[in-house]
Amino acid sequence: MKKGIHPEYYEAEIICACGNRFKAGSTKKEIRVEICSACHPFFTGKEKLVDTAGRVEKFKRKYQNKK
Ligand SMILES: [Zn+2]
Repeated sequence: MKKGIHPEYYEAEIICACGNRFKAGSTKKEIRVEICSACHPFFTGKEKLVDTAGRVEKFKRKYQNKK
């Protein structure tokens, strides 16, 4: 096989911030994501969504206090 014709193709390991790992074809060996089907609020229903909302509220409060 000649070099340079085909891009390097790996079975990449997708590593999510929640700790979930899964494989997918990619030109990268490792891909880090912050959210995946295992922890996305749409799939989990509630927990992360509540957590995220709390963080947003904290941020808003901090921002308002600075003003
Ligand atoms: Zn995840």
